[in-house]
Amino acid sequence: MQVPLIRLQCGVNSYDWGKVGQQSLAAKYAATTAGPDFSIEAERPYAELWMGTHPSLPSRDVATDRTLLDLVQDNRALMSIEISEKYGGKLPFLFKVLSIRKALSIQAHPNKKLAEELHARDPRNYPDDNHKPEMAIALTPFEGLCGFRPLSEIVHFLNAVAPLRSLVGCQAAEEFETIVTGSEYSEDPAVLGRNKDALRAIFTSLMQSSHEAVEEAAKDLVAAAESSPETFAVSATSLSTNPSTPEQLAAVITRLNGQFPGDVGLFVFFFLNYVQLEPGEAMFLKADDVHAYISGDIIECMASSDNVVRAGFTPKYKDVDTLTRMLTYSYAPIEEQKLQPTDYPYAILNVPAYSSGSESVLYDPPIDEFSVVKTDLKRGGAKATFDGIPGPSIFICTHGEGKIRVGNKTEEVKEGYVFFVGANAECIIESTASGEDVFTTYKAFCELGAGEVLVNGHL
Ligand SMILES: [Zn+2]
Repeated sequence: MQVPLIRLQCGVNSYDWGKVGQQSLAAKYAATTAGPDFSIEAERPYAELWMGTHPSLPSRDVATDRTLLDLVQDNRALMSIEISEKYGGKLPFLFKVLSIRKALSIQAHPNKKLAEELHARDPRNYPDDNHKPEMAIALTPFEGLCGFRPLSEIVHFLNAVAPLRSLVGCQAAEEFETIVTGSEYSEDPAVLGRNKDALRAIFTSLMQSSHEAVEEAAKDLVAAAESSPETFAVSATSLSTNPSTPEQLAAVITRLNGQFPGDVGLFVFFFLNYVQLEPGEAMFLKADDVHAYISGDIIECMASSDNVVRAGFTPKYKDVDTLTRMLTYSYAPIEEQKLQPTDYPYAILNVPAYSSGSESVLYDPPIDEFSVVKTDLKRGGAKATFDGIPGPSIFICTHGEGKIRVGNKTEEVKEGYVFFVGANAECIIESTASGEDVFTTYKAFCELGAGEVLVNGHL
């Protein structure tokens, strides 16, 4: 029986928004295991490294050149029979590294029911009937937009940013302010429902503004950001907003306008939380959460689906109508959008690992398809032993060097190396650093059973 440890060759794609040349972590990781015909071109953007069984960019076994999809369908025990059956013989998740130079489209992913409807109605733009929850973990400082801002912040911007106010209309802005002021965090569900309706109404009317009106307002907006950044979007009764200084805010608006001149996304910005993640920080995007990535390198994990509803910062197909209807319009401060990692108890550290402050932490979003464990081994000889789990795993090393072992098979690991580990296999990773260089791996995995029952509290 073959040992279920497979080193993978993973492809990188070249979407326009990717970081260029050697600046792209996705490209650097891909280059460590690329075929002879691949080299990083200095001027070319490299956006996404894909690790998984997706047919658009399939990962391959370095030793045999067979695709991972072929391998897991040939030997269903690699993923466990249960997971293979539940997910149609494909990996339940797609694991990626994204290197973002330029904003990605303002988007949301449909829930399961809406995905089925959209796919039935428009299979060209909605290629499958699956939902697509996503999680992002920063590898380098990251910025993005995620979820609606607290309503008091939106009211603040409606008052302090004249072009925004004129675009949505004075009367609409006043009505919105009157409805939501003082009741933002009411405990009365009827009041919260009314606030969400008000947010839906004003956001929808913004999104339905004519192209000409948006372009006109964007000119005024950018002129204000450029001519007086120190007072940009500041009002007399100013609350704390994000970004927290007017100069930073003006700089982000100017930069986004440079990428997408005159785009409605410049105004959507004032409705959504501006999120910055430090390396290791994460956010989870559930179905129907509006978001846009702006810059940085991230690890991303998602359910296998390509369903994206877009409405700004994109040359691709936009579906403003679906987007404005599908959103939940829940609003919350940024801290509530972040996903806090927890201690991961199923990786046992040896003494050098323990004494050097090495750790394994778990990012566990409330869905079945995936979780991610990050392990930092902080000294040569530090080891982490992962219990076998009843499902598939994919490891990627993002820093340092070491070894990975399953059964009697050991492979060396360097930055950018990717491995598949089969179900129920115990796996040991070990740092081979000479000094205190950190050996960092991320492991995405899926398991069914006890864990999920506990998480959800019911079967
Ligand atoms: Zn997304």
